[in-house]
Amino acid sequence: MSWNIGEMVELRPFQGGAFIIGGESGTYPAMQVVCNNCAYTMLINAVSSGILEQNDYATGGPENG
Ligand SMILES: [Zn+2]
Repeated sequence: MSWNIGEMVELRPFQGGAFIIGGESGTYPAMQVVCNNCAYTMLINAVSSGILEQNDYATGGPENG
């Protein structure tokens, strides 16, 4: 098996026929790990896994904080 690390993406909740923007709803940064054979994609939570610190995510990255 061969895997590739893709770009970091952001996940947003979808409820009642629309994406939820703002309010109490959060977004979730995730790293993509993609199978080079079938394109199966695993999403690893970037904050929980330690790839990204919560403060960096909230401020847009270490260069902006
Ligand atoms: Zn595969």
